[in-house]
Amino acid sequence: MDKIKNNFASAWRSVHFDLEKKLPRHAIHAWFDPIVALDFREKSFILEVPNQFSLEWIESHYKDEIALSIKDLFGKSIKYQLLVVKDKKEILHKDKPERSNLRHKVVRFNNLNIKYTFDNFIVGSNNEFAKTASESVASNPGQQNFNPLIIYGGVGLGKTHLMHAIGNSSLNQNPNLKIVNITSEQFTLDFVNSLRKNKTIEFAQNYRSSDVLLIDDIQFFRGKEQTQEQFFHTFNVLYQSGKQIVLTADKFPGEMKGLQSRLLSRFQSGLSVDVQPPNFEVRVAILLEKAEQNGLELDYSTIEFIARHIKNNVRELEGTIIRLLAKSSLLNIEINNQLVTEVVKERVGGRIGNEISIENIVRKVSEISNVKEDDIVGKSRKMEIAEARQVSMFLCRDIMGTSLNNIGMFFGGRDHTTVMHALKTVDKKQNNNDRMKQMISSIRKELGFSFL
Ligand code: ADP
Ligand code: MG
Repeated sequence: MDKIKNNFASAWRSVHFDLEKKLPRHAIHAWFDPIVALDFREKSFILEVPNQFSLEWIESHYKDEIALSIKDLFGKSIKYQLLVVKDKKEILHKDKPERSNLRHKVVRFNNLNIKYTFDNFIVGSNNEFAKTASESVASNPGQQNFNPLIIYGGVGLGKTHLMHAIGNSSLNQNPNLKIVNITSEQFTLDFVNSLRKNKTIEFAQNYRSSDVLLIDDIQFFRGKEQTQEQFFHTFNVLYQSGKQIVLTADKFPGEMKGLQSRLLSRFQSGLSVDVQPPNFEVRVAILLEKAEQNGLELDYSTIEFIARHIKNNVRELEGTIIRLLAKSSLLNIEINNQLVTEVVKERVGGRIGNEISIENIVRKVSEISNVKEDDIVGKSRKMEIAEARQVSMFLCRDIMGTSLNNIGMFFGGRDHTTVMHALKTVDKKQNNNDRMKQMISSIRKELGFSFL
């Protein structure tokens, strides 16, 4: 036992090594590589794990394997204790030097999630402007015309991520800033409590002394007159003293119902930026990033498969990766095509079979543009026909990620440079031309690819 005590780190390494022989690679990668052996005390290994989720997962799924490896290696059972980083200080002896190379340290300031940064926010045309504006605000809070900054858009598209990134980044640039970060529900609760306890002055002071006020999901202020009143005053005090306000909402502020018009008109003095659903390429990039973050190695065809089917929002993409990881760990199998198909099917409600096709897209475009399907896939260069064809090509690429060659083949045997040109033309028109924007968004909606 003493031998292990004096050399606990290498003793644990041998357990790790033994587990590598028994468990799939991704399980080792996801759950065991992050473990750090901190100590050996009271006849147990003290092991650090990065978070509560890992702790529970390891305890509930790998207890037997760990016990077996320990018994095989040391000839007897030895206990072990898993700890999440933040518990570490209480457990370790006070005179022990702090380990400086702790991995996965999770610190939260002002409820800011430090995992939400600009660095790990994947940019595409769907969110580029929102990110640039957010970065600008983080560098110069309160000093620009971007006050308030309002980030709006559908569920799971990165609004909260961007808002926290503003908090994290501005704090990195100036650690003295007072950042108040809260959801509008918490704000409401806080206000109601302050009323109950006769502490409305303290309530007001707390918010009004912030340099950067971040409020998430302001649609929840809907119909809460007194809270809106409070918020209005807080807003004015901060605004007038040049403090930054950042808000997120599910809709363009001009379209929000149930919010006082004086508030809405205040919002118009700032900048509203939207986040849109990611297109195919951005979905692939997000999946690659999330897989890496979760220690999961997936080959490109798997990533592409997921990106083709999971289109709704980023949270779902992330959820698919986690589910894949969980399922393969649980069933103790390597990730293979069958597992991927199963997980994706689960998430899209089994709709993989009647997956959208090029034909479906052409049909919809034909209905909306009044150009015959045969013409769309034909050779005519008449302007409205060519436009319907280009829109169809664009949607095939955008929604399904169909390769340029395949698109070319389907639409009258054109080569990939022609297709490329078509995609660029539509993308440009989409940004400059409301009719085109409307048309694309209504086709997407009809095909079930829009949820705004
Ligand atoms: P919202 O607040 O718009 O509902 P979130 O900000 O909570 O969405 O995003 C949902 C999840 O998706 C989060 O885990 C977030 O990190 C991730 N996410 C969203 N957009 C991106 C992006 N562009 N790049 C990387 N991760 C993203
Ligand atoms: Mg959110």
